Amino acid sequence: RQPFPRPTRRRIISVANQKGGVGKTTSTVNLAAALASHGVRVLVIDLDPQGNASTALGIEHHSGVPSIYEVLLGDRPLDEVIVPSAEAPELYCAPATIDLAGAEIELVSLVARENRLRRAIAGLQREIDYVFIDCPPSLGLLTVNALVAAREILIPIQCEYYALEGLGMLLRNVELVQAHLNQDLRLSTILLTMYDSRTRLADQVVQEVKEHFGDRVLSTTIPRNVRLAEAPSYGQSALTYDPTSRGSLSYLAAARELAERGVQPTEVPR
Ligand code: ADP
Ligand code: MG
Repeated sequence: RQPFPRPTRRRIISVANQKGGVGKTTSTVNLAAALASHGVRVLVIDLDPQGNASTALGIEHHSGVPSIYEVLLGDRPLDEVIVPSAEAPELYCAPATIDLAGAEIELVSLVARENRLRRAIAGLQREIDYVFIDCPPSLGLLTVNALVAAREILIPIQCEYYALEGLGMLLRNVELVQAHLNQDLRLSTILLTMYDSRTRLADQVVQEVKEHFGDRVLSTTIPRNVRLAEAPSYGQSALTYDPTSRGSLSYLAAARELAERGVQPTEVPR
């Protein structure tokens, strides 16, 4: 197995889209597993109170488990809550518990409320090459924390009719964060998900997204594949659950692209 190149500087990637069900968590977990299985050290931060990324990585996240909630609200060091996943030797997860559901509101009254995740990651002692932040399906303070903490944003877009609708709001938020909170943030990557080759519509969406976002769009498109949907109920990534499935192979290819091309363009398109 050829290892993927390690970045010279830690890459921090927020996987965001305020729409639910577009493949944020599936992409986070499988890209992370693909990278970690190729000799890259990866941390997944689960920032969704649902804890789906924690579940998919086989990490306990019932209420009371030390989690990202204590990091954001209680100043607990990130190193103290991260746990290794059985998926790969160098794959770690900071789990989310249901406590995080209250964080949107509890954060409001805190100082530096947008900067808490950024500070936590800056204080990380463990050597990590990639940090993936799995965002909740909203544009609240949790997602803002993710955008302030990240250098890159990866937007999964589902290949369906309303794919681009609603993205405008996300892009405006990215611009606001760039202008006021995090100049370093780059929209580096678009990943097309749930592609169904039987519909002509899917091809139209792929075309449209590529026209709009240019070379930010990974050339690998993720197909609709039932193995990707089944894997989480076994507490596994698809790469462990069924490594030769089309879903797994596509995430491997996407991860390789991500690793090989590094951090990309600058401005956010309108
Ligand atoms: P989000 O995190 O954006 O809400 P998820 O990654 O949880 O989205 O995906 C939503 C649902 O679709 C989940 O049940 C997931 O298992 C399923 N799913 C995601 N990607 C695929 C795919 N490429 N093929 C089939 N099912 C998928
Ligand atoms: Mg999710």
